[in-house]
Amino acid sequence: MVTENLRLVEEKICQACERSGRKREEVTLIAVSKTKPIEMMEEAMTAGIRVFGENKVQEILKKEVALPKNIDWHLIGHLQRNKVRQIAGKTARIHSVDSLRLAEQIQKEYEKIQQTAKILIEVNVAREESKFGLMPEETEETIREIAVMPNIHVCGLMTIAPYVENPEENRVHFQNLRKLLVDINGKNIDNISMDELSMGMTGDYEVAIEEGATFIRVGTGIFGSREYDK
Ligand SMILES: *Cc1c(COP(=O)(O)O)cnc(C)c1O
Repeated sequence: MVTENLRLVEEKICQACERSGRKREEVTLIAVSKTKPIEMMEEAMTAGIRVFGENKVQEILKKEVALPKNIDWHLIGHLQRNKVRQIAGKTARIHSVDSLRLAEQIQKEYEKIQQTAKILIEVNVAREESKFGLMPEETEETIREIAVMPNIHVCGLMTIAPYVENPEENRVHFQNLRKLLVDINGKNIDNISMDELSMGMTGDYEVAIEEGATFIRVGTGIFGSREYDK
């Protein structure tokens, strides 16, 4: 099932790239494996996947010892400050930095291990009550404060778009995230030159690609629905 799903997703990615005049290499597919067993992840690896997304620190720690070392782990879920120490040095990207205090903790722990954390700033671009993420208007100020932290590199912006029936409804949110990135880059903040946009999930990744996504996070579309799904 995973192999066939991946083939379909890959086909759709290629078509979305073609429609929008982008190169396939500009988009990285993150296979979101949260709650899914090692066996399914191994099947994805056989089909060529090396980039996995998880939303819990504990699950990354458990899975990374059971799988080959040549995997890029992306933490995409909310990160608590008291979990930063455990995950330091283990992820390719942390997508979900949504406060200055969390960034300060990341700075502290990455300084200890003398590494640079590659992070994205999570923005609640659709202004949903229930979601984590900075409001668009507070994003620049927070990035200015993080920019001076020597052990953090801000790579880009991330958003979790609303759940919608018609993915076209999210196009405006993806456009707004991209505009925000361009806008902040234009402020010429020292150390800030962001080129990554993490946006698009199973329901809307094609639209996200058309609007400039460089990371798409696809779970259900690859591994099938999760236990706790409605
Ligand atoms: C679970 C999750 C995804 C994947 O969602 P699907 O709809 O299953 O593709 C993407 N991003 C984040 C932050 C998630 O928590």
